[in-house]
Amino acid sequence: MRLSRYFLPILRETPKEAEIVSHRLMLRAGMIRQESAGIYAWLPLGLRVLNKINAIIREEQTRAGAIECLMPTIQPADLWRESGRYDAYGKEMLRIADRHDREMLYGPTNEEMITEIFRAYVRSYKDLPLNLFHIQWKFRDEVRPRFGVMRSREFLMKDAYSFDLTAEAGRHSYNKMFVAYLRTFARLGLTAIPMAAESGPIGGNSHEFIILASTGESEVFCHRDFLSFAPPPASVDFDDAAGLQGIVDKWTSRYAATSEMHDAAAFAAVPEDARVAARGIEVGHIFYFGTKYSEPMRAVVNGPDGKEVVVQMGSYGIGPSRLAAAIIEAGHDDNGVIWPESVAPFHVGVADLKVGDPATGKVCADLVEQLENAGLDVLHDDRDERPGAKFATLDLIGLPWQVLVGPKGLAEGRVEVKQRRTGERELLAPQDAVTRIV
Ligand code: ATP
Ligand code: MG
Ligand code: MG
Ligand code: MG
Repeated sequence: MRLSRYFLPILRETPKEAEIVSHRLMLRAGMIRQESAGIYAWLPLGLRVLNKINAIIREEQTRAGAIECLMPTIQPADLWRESGRYDAYGKEMLRIADRHDREMLYGPTNEEMITEIFRAYVRSYKDLPLNLFHIQWKFRDEVRPRFGVMRSREFLMKDAYSFDLTAEAGRHSYNKMFVAYLRTFARLGLTAIPMAAESGPIGGNSHEFIILASTGESEVFCHRDFLSFAPPPASVDFDDAAGLQGIVDKWTSRYAATSEMHDAAAFAAVPEDARVAARGIEVGHIFYFGTKYSEPMRAVVNGPDGKEVVVQMGSYGIGPSRLAAAIIEAGHDDNGVIWPESVAPFHVGVADLKVGDPATGKVCADLVEQLENAGLDVLHDDRDERPGAKFATLDLIGLPWQVLVGPKGLAEGRVEVKQRRTGERELLAPQDAVTRIV
């Protein structure tokens, strides 16, 4: 991608309305723009990151056996009357009337709708287990939308819903998502800690996945060991119920709780030097809630003995739009964002430090071609700008690698390769720069 033909509206000034670093940097780097309180447009650079986050989530959901679908954003109120949540949901729900005065709403979540889809088609226990997910915009009329896309009113959510015949099978489905989440967050470069969470009046099981960050809105308490646990490998067998339970047991074997579930006595039993009391960001939340929706909405299947069984359900949410901000909270310095390779909008920035010079132009064009042929996303800064402005832009947008091509270096057959994370710089022949990065 040639920067001269791209749309990257960088802000020079630090926006005053932004209270936390991720919000400031997303505005400055031209990733998002607020269109109304808590409602954002995703500009091209931001959208690249969001799409990469979604791709990783999608891969890990699929690996764990979940199947993608897409439900609408607008839902009929009547569906929510069936579960009793239409009135219970309160002011966070955006309620809409269509031209025929039918009551509609912009979905804040999809338990009711997925249960409606399930009961329309699934008749037999032989069709279970089933886990359907989608990645779709949600709307919650938050009292205090703030921190940019960290707490917005319109936000993206991956939500998955599992259906099982028995509570035991339901637990296996829950564990699949638990392990998929550990892998997902690790691939996003994050250390997410599963914490026991409130599961509401119905009981069941629930974990929030929290990353530690001083700007997080949750107060959390956990054992330091979580910070060094290795995530489950890609080779995990999701059909092996006992194996998965072993992983979940390990990840729930140490103390971890948000303030709502905090047990000061249990925390005091953690060795003092292993106690972490910090702030955190909720990036995912999984629930096992049994028949909370399937019972009132009559989602039933015929069991092996021909008798009707009300299915066991769970739901599993991740916030990709919040994650874009959370990844920045976890990775930045004074000069800008530091993206992990896995979600960087481009892997490499190639900067021509003397636009118009045929020598730098030729080397840049060759580098871009070779890096792109190797499958990398490359941003070619071919703007007629001062080198200083180019360095600042590349640092701000946080691409993992920078290749700086100037006439002085080229006179000695060298370009400069800089790693954004470490700041390490090397002078290399253009060919070696490619092998260094690829
Ligand atoms: P919070 O406690 O932050 O309000 P929640 O518990 O209401 O979140 P869930 O219903 O558990 O959220 O939704 C699943 C996921 O959706 C959350 O873990 C989070 O990643 C994301 N999410 C929820 N609300 C928002 C929001 N207002 N803006 C961005 N992402 C959100
Ligand atoms: Mg909420
Ligand atoms: Mg919450
Ligand atoms: Mg939650």
